[in-house]
Amino acid sequence: MQSDMRLLGRRGFLGLAAGGAAVAATLGPARAAKVRTSARIVIIGAGAAGTSMANRLVERLEGATITLLDGRADHFYQPGLSLVAAGLKPASYTLSKTADWLPKEVTLIAEKAAAIDPDAKTVATEGGTRLDYDFLIVAPGLVLDHDAIPGFSLDMVGTNGIGALYAGPDYAAKTWEAARKFTEEGGVGLFTRPATEMKCAGAPLKHTFLIEDIAGRTVGPGKYEIHFAAPQPVLFSVPIVAEKVRMLFGERGVTTHLQHKLMSIDPGKKSAQFEKTEVDAATKAEVKSTVELPYDYLHVIPPQRAPEVIRQSGLSWADKWTDQGWVECDMKTLRHLRYPEIFALGDVAGVPKGKTAASVKWMVPVVEDHLVAAIEGREGTEVYDGYTSCPMITRVGKAMLVEFDYNNNLVPSFPGLIAPLEELWISWLMKEVALKATYNAMLRGKA
Ligand SMILES: Cc1cc2nc3c(=O)[nH]c(=O)nc-3n(C[C@H](O)[C@H](O)[C@H](O)COP(=O)(O)OP(=O)(O)OC[C@H]3O[C@@H](n4cnc5c(N)ncnc54)[C@H](O)[C@@H]3O)c2cc1C
Repeated sequence: MQSDMRLLGRRGFLGLAAGGAAVAATLGPARAAKVRTSARIVIIGAGAAGTSMANRLVERLEGATITLLDGRADHFYQPGLSLVAAGLKPASYTLSKTADWLPKEVTLIAEKAAAIDPDAKTVATEGGTRLDYDFLIVAPGLVLDHDAIPGFSLDMVGTNGIGALYAGPDYAAKTWEAARKFTEEGGVGLFTRPATEMKCAGAPLKHTFLIEDIAGRTVGPGKYEIHFAAPQPVLFSVPIVAEKVRMLFGERGVTTHLQHKLMSIDPGKKSAQFEKTEVDAATKAEVKSTVELPYDYLHVIPPQRAPEVIRQSGLSWADKWTDQGWVECDMKTLRHLRYPEIFALGDVAGVPKGKTAASVKWMVPVVEDHLVAAIEGREGTEVYDGYTSCPMITRVGKAMLVEFDYNNNLVPSFPGLIAPLEELWISWLMKEVALKATYNAMLRGKA
């Protein structure tokens, strides 16, 4: 029963293009009566996770004080950035105002959280305001550490063959300026990904596939080379998906450089320096060397970490991802392991999968359930299974709908209808048309 509901819910998130809107509208979970409480709930971050959570709590609770903190007035629809960076949508497609997504019952404070004291149960804002909480939801997303790459800076994006589409709507548009020049003039396109955990691990591949596709139809075959460099030993963390991408890269003539970590760039020389890791066959020891690769177009995705406020407030794992600082939480309930009144939501959660908006859709009801249960003095029952989804675009007009869980099982929303590892137009439509409508419904707490 639970899995049936889950399937219907997934169709609600991914299936608008296939008529799923009606499914979502008619089969959404029935809402219980509101729970009366005077609980003070603070949410850090008004992105996909924080906004969705705030809206759902307003529907579930009567009398709670819900305060949402975010220093940025604009909301970024980040799944759209890949389309912007391929010239398929304008930057404005990904922009909205955070305040427009929120009901009047939520107090939005336009400041960042600067410090959390989990023992005193307080949050201090950048402006020095102190907020006491009974429950805290940490959803500040992640930080893109562009400074970690010597030679690179964001003001280079769009010029001199450099792109960095993760950096936001304007940078995604500038990335297209640089990428478009490459698709018109040809040369060497060099695409990278970081060694850290990252949001939407399919996005580096999508950008590679899209720019290759456009170059193939613009400057034409033989005039360009595509190279993909990754620090990992495989192209994707789910083995069957990694193998599919490896085959597609082979068919499309993409040269792969695995175990190559981007260390620095020399924009004057148009070259990028990588640390290459190999295993010595005799001793089995890792051997590191430096490799230099030239480029005419370079796509940079920097290392990604939890925001400073998480790391400095003692909420991070002490023995996992120590260089990245993700929140120490239970992988099934997202509840902090040392502070039961704190929950992690979205990209900042220290769990092995789940840094996608589609994951947020599944995380939010779980945290809602456990938080409301705590208010009522009982145990929650909902479980997050690691659901992660990435419509992997392979060409303009083609995508693969890749969905998986903690155990790397493929968990297709449309078994027998849409094959997860086939390049299909319907899967493209889900990314290009349906995903935004469903994402918006999620922000309103409806999907
Ligand atoms: C290029 C790209 C493509 C993607 N494609 C897809 C896709 O196809 N499908 C998919 O499902 N997902 C995709 N994603 C991932 C998805 O966008 C994220 O996983 C999702 O937005 C995570 O939600 P979040 O709320 O955790 O973080 P965000 O949505 O990033 O929001 C975090 C919020 O916290 C705020 N914040 C930061 N620090 C503080 C602080 N100290 N105090 C208060 N507020 C703070 C920020 O201003 C921001 O508003 C993509 C992401 C990128 C970058």
